[in-house]
Amino acid sequence: MSIVPPPRLSEEGIRQFTPGLSGLTLDALAAWLAEHGQPAYRARQVLDAVWRANPATLDEVTTLPRPLRVALAESFRWDTAGATEVAIADGGRTEKALHRLADGATIESVLMHFPAGPGRRERHTLCISSEAGCAVGCPFCATGELGFSRDLLTAEIVDQVRWASRHLATDGLRLTNIVFMGMGEPLMNLDRVLEAVAALNDPSRFGLGARHITVSTSGVVPGIRRLTALGAQFTLAISLHAARDSLRDVLVPLNRRWPVAEVVAAARDHAAATGRRVSYEVVMIAGINDTDADADAMAELLRGDLAHVNLIPMNPVAHTPWQASPAEALERFAARLRAVGLPVTIRGNRGQDVGAACGQLAAERAGEPAPAAVAWRRKRLEQASLAALRGDPSEVVDAVVARSAR
Ligand code: SAH
Ligand code: SF4
Repeated sequence: MSIVPPPRLSEEGIRQFTPGLSGLTLDALAAWLAEHGQPAYRARQVLDAVWRANPATLDEVTTLPRPLRVALAESFRWDTAGATEVAIADGGRTEKALHRLADGATIESVLMHFPAGPGRRERHTLCISSEAGCAVGCPFCATGELGFSRDLLTAEIVDQVRWASRHLATDGLRLTNIVFMGMGEPLMNLDRVLEAVAALNDPSRFGLGARHITVSTSGVVPGIRRLTALGAQFTLAISLHAARDSLRDVLVPLNRRWPVAEVVAAARDHAAATGRRVSYEVVMIAGINDTDADADAMAELLRGDLAHVNLIPMNPVAHTPWQASPAEALERFAARLRAVGLPVTIRGNRGQDVGAACGQLAAERAGEPAPAAVAWRRKRLEQASLAALRGDPSEVVDAVVARSAR
């Protein structure tokens, strides 16, 4: 199976949106201000308003003269990701925002509050989206089910962060961590994700330390290699899910383009070049990827690496035949990895009652697919995962999928 590259938003398509102010660097802003006859010091003032004071509207930025505010409002949008809907779960510990963008696309961000624990400070972690939808199509992921709409612009990425930090500020709190684990494949929108990370990391803009930023990928090998070459300073997370190609081909369709050994080799080089531990994420699905054979294959694959494995019970997603692995299966899997010296954390899943798994809320808003499509999808997944579990090579799994599609 070949993976068709997703359509990109054309330059013309991008121009139809008024740009977001938060997507500008200091230099770009200074150039715009100079063209508009403004003194150079205004650039710093505007950026401070965008990133520090960050009120809900440009009108409230009284440090800037009114004519400048009017001129800015004609050329830029103050907020490109205004939250239209917020759902609260876990007794207030998880807040999910559904943001509606200028072209009507919807994306999500999830704010999670973690209390202080022994040796650990209180954390407020925001999970953000990098694309509307996703082209990779992992079958356990609600975003994958939605398909790909478009890449987000830099401002649309960072405005999710500005929204959350404004929201937290009302309670006197600050964002402590940002993870690119919402909708989309960050490494397929890498230029804008890198611009967003630069803005979030820049002490004169958002100023969050690189140690507190994580970018997760399903395994876009050239993207990982590019990050390594740039010496990118943030935590790299790899959505591994399975160590055997035949099963990973089903769980992460991108595996057919970049097989697991290539992904792990790129991650290993990244860890060696940056000296930073790579996080491997494994969504645990009962009876599918949580067997002893899978644990042993993963232990063999990662043994000796500068790595950390996170086991995450699958959040229930409509239209899949699968369930989360039970607690005993998670413990057993973790023990087999730990036996070869790999550090493992078993994560709880957050916000199930508001659909806080990747893309779920947006999927619900997108409406129900036709029952026939759901039945076909379930059947296809059951057949494909059975074939993969038998250890059939990818060609056989493909044939099974093709047969069940008839
Ligand atoms: N596309 C990137 C980043 C966004 S997805 C990637 O796949 O890494 C972020 C994480 O959410 C991934 O690790 C993904 O596997 C996980 N995820 C998706 N659907 C899930 C579900 N139903 N339950 C638990 N985790 C899920
Ligand atoms: Fe895309 Fe990540 Fe969801 Fe897979 S898990 S479909 S790569 S968002």
